[in-house]
Amino acid sequence: MKGQCLCGAITITTNGEPVMMSKCHCRDCQYISGGEASPLLFFPMDNVEIQGTASTFEKKADSGKGVERSFCPKCGTHVYSKAEAAPDMIFVKAGTIDRADLDAADVQTAMVFYAASAQPFSHIDEDAQVFETSPS
Ligand SMILES: [Zn+2]
Ligand SMILES: [Zn+2]
Repeated sequence: MKGQCLCGAITITTNGEPVMMSKCHCRDCQYISGGEASPLLFFPMDNVEIQGTASTFEKKADSGKGVERSFCPKCGTHVYSKAEAAPDMIFVKAGTIDRADLDAADVQTAMVFYAASAQPFSHIDEDAQVFETSPS
């Protein structure tokens, strides 16, 4: 799969399709997305190549473990995140991936995290495995 930030300064190339997709409705992800859940594609770290230099903001999640959120310093697009709780994985924002590649992989939401803090205007994917907070 291929993807990029809004301005194109950061590009993503993946080896293969994501392991799964989740939507995270935690408050932190809502700030990042503008109010909705963050749609995250889970990839093993070794399967993703990032080109360009992202800025990174780190904050502890509710679990107490750190989450690094990386974004383009020029256009502000959040491109990927990494979690201390899952050091071998990288979480790519689904919206940065080319639409044709998402269609080809038929990516659907497998899990929903932090449904308890979803905004009243947000939709919860009922077909997915829904967790009120984090799964662990
Ligand atoms: Zn950019
Ligand atoms: Zn979140």
